[in-house]
Amino acid sequence: MNQSYLIKPVMRDFYPTAMYGQGVFIYDKRGKKYLDGSSGAVTSSIGHAVPEIIEVIYEQAKKISFVYRSQFTTEPAEKLAEKLNQLVFGEEDEYFSFFVNSGSEATETALKIAIQYWQEKGNFRKNKVISRWSSYHGITMGALSMSGHIGRRERFVSLLERLPTISSPNCYRCPFNQKYPSCQLMCANELETAIRREGADNIAAFIAEPIVGAAGGVIVPPEGYYQMVREICNDHDILFIADEVMTGIGRTGKMFAMEHWGVKPDIIALGKGMSAGYTPMAATLASGKVMKPILAGSASVMSGHTYSANPQSAAVALAVINYIEKNDLVQKSEVSGNYLMNLLKEVAVKYPIIGDIRGKGLMIGVEFVSNILTKHPFQKELSLTSKLVETARDKGLLIYPATAGIEGGGGDAVIIAPPINITKQEVDLLVNLFEKMVDEIQEDLSVQGVVDSIG
Ligand code: PMP
Repeated sequence: MNQSYLIKPVMRDFYPTAMYGQGVFIYDKRGKKYLDGSSGAVTSSIGHAVPEIIEVIYEQAKKISFVYRSQFTTEPAEKLAEKLNQLVFGEEDEYFSFFVNSGSEATETALKIAIQYWQEKGNFRKNKVISRWSSYHGITMGALSMSGHIGRRERFVSLLERLPTISSPNCYRCPFNQKYPSCQLMCANELETAIRREGADNIAAFIAEPIVGAAGGVIVPPEGYYQMVREICNDHDILFIADEVMTGIGRTGKMFAMEHWGVKPDIIALGKGMSAGYTPMAATLASGKVMKPILAGSASVMSGHTYSANPQSAAVALAVINYIEKNDLVQKSEVSGNYLMNLLKEVAVKYPIIGDIRGKGLMIGVEFVSNILTKHPFQKELSLTSKLVETARDKGLLIYPATAGIEGGGGDAVIIAPPINITKQEVDLLVNLFEKMVDEIQEDLSVQGVVDSIG
């Protein structure tokens, strides 16, 4: 890659210039149309240029765009906090919202709240967080310390906190070479082993993405996994943090993905789809149990950024949630997700380079392998993930690159996660473009002689 692009003000030598978006489509400077098959980075969850959201941005800008968060609250932020509290499933607890600007800040704040919780209770040793190898919780140092994503970590390892890490619930590439259910959820049990090894007295929390995104190519855990995780956390007095930055706010056919398993986290990180890409907005939600000692002690969370709880962003997030509710989009993401999944499975049977398709709602991962029987991945040197993304873009389809499971020697995967208001016709078009991309890639790989399972 040409180094000079790093210091250019724009990357126009490498990327097309996006000029405008409409619904699920993006148009570039040359007038080329792209179907946004991954909502950007699983973010533009209600598509582009939705008039109701544009109106809210304009109206809020006329009222007030910024106040410093430690001197005022604003109506949009107050209403958003109330709304999120209503949305968190189950009523017996109250959730407090802390608003930030990115998913990384949300998980970083979750980490800080977890540590602060134990400190306020007089325990200064409980300051480690257990996470999983196949995970990505953000790019800031605290969030990276909790992330197994090797590609993002490796340059900064010397600066990162060494935290305990366990395997992922990856049934396609089981780290224990087992089959569900005879495995008896060894992956969940590893949490117990890690806690015993480290000493529960040193562990503040366990963090997990309900469904692993970029660092796993969409890993959906088997039934019973989170119920067991919750029990282990309870038994050892450890907080459970759910990183719902990618899965939250309707993406997987539920408002929060943890609803699929009926398990309530102590702390929830939200981002991305929360403001659907219209403004930077993310949040850390902490349960009443967690906030009680903090409110009784320091009375505030030791985190914050200049733009935290920005009224403009809060107004947008509130409008996005209202739009999702008004248009029944949580349920639509389940229905459209099932439809999309079935069509993609029909494509998969024709192409042996597709090893696995998995997901929930409109968060679907497709994993590519050089041998469908052995699940052997393609060689890294082929940079297949980038080729998949670039070939799809050439054909007018945007998809999101992922790594298919770190500990299982995983290979190339992409995430398909279009806006949750995508229509049936648009899903048909998405699958058509996807098949064209796979067809070209398989042909190309076959010519190179790197596909084991055909010819
Ligand atoms: N957590 C998860 C699960 C994510 O997918 C991401 C972003 N891919 C982050 C945290 C970090 O969010 P951001 O890029 O907004 O900082």
